[in-house]
Amino acid sequence: MEITELLTTVIHRLTNFIFSLQLWDVLDILVIAYLIYRLLLLVRKTNTSRLLKGVLVVIVLMWLSAERMLALSFVLERIVEWGVLALIILFQPEIRRGLEQLGSSQIPFLQIFAKPQVDRQTVEDAIAQTVSACGDMSKSRTGALIVFERKNQLDEMLRSGTKLDAEVSSELLKNIFFVKAPMHDGAVIVREGRVLGAGCMLPLSRNVNLSRDLGMRHRAGIGMSENSDAVVVLVSEETGSISVAVGGMLKRHLMTETLEQLLRNELLPQQPEEEDPDGKKRMNWKGLLGMDKKEGEKKDE
Ligand code: ATP
Ligand code: MG
Repeated sequence: MEITELLTTVIHRLTNFIFSLQLWDVLDILVIAYLIYRLLLLVRKTNTSRLLKGVLVVIVLMWLSAERMLALSFVLERIVEWGVLALIILFQPEIRRGLEQLGSSQIPFLQIFAKPQVDRQTVEDAIAQTVSACGDMSKSRTGALIVFERKNQLDEMLRSGTKLDAEVSSELLKNIFFVKAPMHDGAVIVREGRVLGAGCMLPLSRNVNLSRDLGMRHRAGIGMSENSDAVVVLVSEETGSISVAVGGMLKRHLMTETLEQLLRNELLPQQPEEEDPDGKKRMNWKGLLGMDKKEGEKKDE
């Protein structure tokens, strides 16, 4: 009897609550839910779960000590006051990256600030030149690391290298990565079909499951693709093998034809006549991984 009474009160309150909701409340809840979701993603991605546990312990202690244990409460309050500042300083790169990503994401009403579409021909030429350079560098065992920027802006990485502004050409790429050239170390960054920087430092991957034979170049390439939506092309100095990293996944030992297909599908806007309802002909990233799972390095879950 009591349980049914309790249930009816709960249901009654719940319906009251739902009917009293207004548009702004719904929006409020959605925004908070989204922020919590992003926070959890960040925590998972950046191994901050231990830190989060620490913060939770402090909050619980504060709640318990409030009004009863004045000294402890006082100390904890000071910790929180300074802790917020410390957290902002500690997570400055993450916060900054998050804001940059938010600014360059595909939120519909923010699209009015988006730049006009890049000229297709420029990107096609850049892809052809890159593929040709990679073919040659693969044969000559020249190490290369080329990042194609997409929606997420890579200004932070560009700042770490030498600024350029040049058309992508096979000769330029080979020249940059030529072992005795001053800019051969680090990555080239390509934005909208133009080489914007060389010798750029990329963030290393945090994935501990990567194959042991992958050195720093490959870890930096994968790291860049984990931290942004960029498409990263790599040529190994040791083996001459060509790889591509997207979204934290590395596809290794590519032939130049496959590299070209992949780059075209990832970097060129889809044209209506190219659309293929079965998705069979289209060799996109996921399709390629599906075809040959062994070569894709597993991403850290
Ligand atoms: P390879 O197969 O070409 O030998 P690898 O994955 O084994 O590649 P390393 O041999 O360690 O990698 O390559 C080192 C080169 O990688 C450096 O000379 C430098 O050019 C590049 N590199 C290393 N770390 C970074 C980084 N964080 N950002 C950009 N480039 C990097
Ligand atoms: Mg090596």
